[in-house]
Amino acid sequence: MKKNILWVMIVVSLSTLLLPISVSATTLQQYIDKVNQYQKEINDANASINKTEGEIAAAQNAITAAQQEIKDISNEIIDLKEEIEESNKEIKKKSLETKQLFEYYQIAQGENTYLEYIFGADSITDLIYRVSVVEQLTEHNEKVTKELEALIEKNKKREKSLNKKTQQLKQKQVNLKAQIKTLEGQVVELQEGSVRASDQLKIYQDQVNYYRKQGCKASDRIGIDCAKENVVAGWYRPTVRGNISQTVGWSEINIDGFHYGTDIWSSKGTGEKIYPIASGTISAITTDIYGALIVIIYHTDMNGKKWTSFYCHLSSYSPNIYVGMKVTPNTYIGYMGHTGYAFGTHLHLEVADCRLYDATDKNCSTWGKWTKYIKKKFNNGFLGAKTLIKLPNSWSRR
Ligand SMILES: [Zn+2]
Repeated sequence: MKKNILWVMIVVSLSTLLLPISVSATTLQQYIDKVNQYQKEINDANASINKTEGEIAAAQNAITAAQQEIKDISNEIIDLKEEIEESNKEIKKKSLETKQLFEYYQIAQGENTYLEYIFGADSITDLIYRVSVVEQLTEHNEKVTKELEALIEKNKKREKSLNKKTQQLKQKQVNLKAQIKTLEGQVVELQEGSVRASDQLKIYQDQVNYYRKQGCKASDRIGIDCAKENVVAGWYRPTVRGNISQTVGWSEINIDGFHYGTDIWSSKGTGEKIYPIASGTISAITTDIYGALIVIIYHTDMNGKKWTSFYCHLSSYSPNIYVGMKVTPNTYIGYMGHTGYAFGTHLHLEVADCRLYDATDKNCSTWGKWTKYIKKKFNNGFLGAKTLIKLPNSWSRR
């Protein structure tokens, strides 16, 4: 266990030694650009929503049209069926008629009846006439039956084709409904995107308005050239639970023999929230080349002295923080972690009375100057967070 902690300490110390991060301050113009960017996103989303809603309306109209067409076809099929039925009845009637005629003709040609018929007839002419009429009627009936059968065949073909058309229209409706569903999904996505963009727009718009009120010009660096942060009312512990595993100072286990921060671990591990040690303004949310999540906060104390606090190895940032944000000791900025060049979950906290990465601060404008300054402060008896906040070795409340 002790050996493990020692390892963590070595690695942790190493990681902060090698931090070659570079951060440029945010200007008001960058916030204005963000506002314009999100406004454009919202406008684009709204245009897409309008276009997609037009497509949905068109698809719905096509469905209505298909429904009407199906209804018309269905009526036509009913008519065709009736016509087929009528034709069949007619054929039956004609068939019966022909049969009767044929029977009559048979009788007329039968040996016995023939004679009877001859004698029954007024004359031979009458007989011939009677036979001829029967023949013509039979022929006529056969012709009509053939025509009706052709009509039935034609109607059946038409019915088949209409049924096929109905199936196609039904399939078309199914496809259109699926298309509408997809389009509606797109609208929901676009609306969600627009809402997200609106949220972001509001954050940045508020910032722009606020900084303009503070007298910031577009080229001003926020918190540096204008809009100085809240005055520090008191220094607080950065976590609810904490145990110090290493303080600022000379140490044989560090590569250059020096540790620039205070290492704090918690029994809650990555579940431990990180808070600012005082009111201030977030000057950077960044990572180093090893992927360590870092937040840097500028403070000004009641005597006008400028400070920087530096929080390293976070597992995640709070989703609500942004560069330029005014924070209080109760603004949660992220969770404890072991991102970057570190194998143990802990917070590496550096503090000094200067402005890290502020070009106008001759003591701390670069990472090299910052570490040199911390070393100098240490030589004068300053132990970073341990001295400033009066951190005990272990605590379970802020
Ligand atoms: Zn450390």
